[in-house]
Amino acid sequence: MKAILDHVGIAVKDLDAALAFYRDALGLEVEPPEDVPSQRVRAHFVPVGDASLELLEATAPDSPIAAFVDKRGPGLHHITLRVDDIHAAIAQLKSRGSRLIDADPRPGAEGSLVAFIHPTAAHGVLVELKQAGPVVRSAHREREVVAGERTARPGLVQKPAAPTPHADTVRRYAIGDLELISVCDGFFRLDGGAMFGVVPRRLWERVAPPDERNRITLAMRPLIVRGARTMIIDAGVGDKETAKFSEIYGLDRARNLDHTLAEAGLSVEDIEIVLATHLHFDHAGGFTVRDADGRVRPRFPRAQYVVRRGEWEDATHPNERNKASYFADNFAPLAAAGVLQLVDEDQTIMPGVRVRRTGGHTSHHQIATIESGGKVAAYVADLIPTTAHVPNAWIMGYDLYPLDTLAAKKTLLKEAVEREMLIFFEHDPSMAAAYIREEDGGRRVIPAPA
Ligand SMILES: [Zn+2]
Ligand SMILES: [Zn+2]
Repeated sequence: MKAILDHVGIAVKDLDAALAFYRDALGLEVEPPEDVPSQRVRAHFVPVGDASLELLEATAPDSPIAAFVDKRGPGLHHITLRVDDIHAAIAQLKSRGSRLIDADPRPGAEGSLVAFIHPTAAHGVLVELKQAGPVVRSAHREREVVAGERTARPGLVQKPAAPTPHADTVRRYAIGDLELISVCDGFFRLDGGAMFGVVPRRLWERVAPPDERNRITLAMRPLIVRGARTMIIDAGVGDKETAKFSEIYGLDRARNLDHTLAEAGLSVEDIEIVLATHLHFDHAGGFTVRDADGRVRPRFPRAQYVVRRGEWEDATHPNERNKASYFADNFAPLAAAGVLQLVDEDQTIMPGVRVRRTGGHTSHHQIATIESGGKVAAYVADLIPTTAHVPNAWIMGYDLYPLDTLAAKKTLLKEAVEREMLIFFEHDPSMAAAYIREEDGGRRVIPAPA
């Protein structure tokens, strides 16, 4: 097989010190950093000939790079070899008995395919194989090409592939007698400005770095509650959408709800109740599946689906402002199959789990509170979609009634602090759940150990 060195990944503990060496002492050019939020990593590429060095900086304490640095110190993390045909390369390695981390290639960034070889097979080095996708130039690099300063090199104009095999996506928590399992349907991207409403980009880009199309990465994290019954709250975007939709929203479902349910030891047959916070596509898309014959049916064959009546009315009668978020295929088949239960009031859905209308994001948006054995958690959906939305005024531009969001959010966060609630953030790219503390007049997000 022909393989070309694409880049060398170096885990860095102190970025400034690393730049002092690679940029200042060696005098190399460092490109603007690129974030891989799903891995909590920031990559700084340093071109060296046809290959590059990739300085990998952890952006959160639970980043795989932080774990690597803690365990082994900063240093060589992986090397990436570019091959023409990754399937052929994997087949060849398998036939030679080489141990692989990825038995099949999986999608990397920008249309590439990647697979990791186990370090034991490669004499102590983590080796990533990469088959390049179509070349995508960022605005920054486009300018360089136009200015003729240097020619575009395919190995350099692609976003770095995720440096570790999988995002950490399944986490288990206990609330009294109830088991809570945070699962994941992958990641998508929405306009950063729309995600933070009136907050200026100068402020939000520090906590949610945008891509070249101004989009930020968001996770879709449904929650499993196991108690008297087995419930799932929301179900991600699902897989009925087109390639065009996938491109617009930057969908990354390489690891999705099917995978994470299996990792949690569950299958679609185990789910008895599906609870909807609201019916937007990133929450309800996974409620249904399309069969081979093109027919759309409920995805969880034994489940009753619980939806707020007002939300159902709005979703089935969309207007110009909200129709881009409501797709009938995601919910109409539930009524047709007779598995729909509409609820009007705040109430208990199964022992320990209650719904509470917040309004704001949509008129009938609801959250779930989970209570058992003196402990309490809340699944806050689009009321507080990520940890970056904890400050009062950080409210999505998508919200139909932002002042209602503000009021509901203040009430919930006060309660979260006073009752030490475990808060589940459905769209946070890196943190499934956290506690909120008030210190020196400000709020702090304390990651919850799973
Ligand atoms: Zn929504
Ligand atoms: Zn959402």
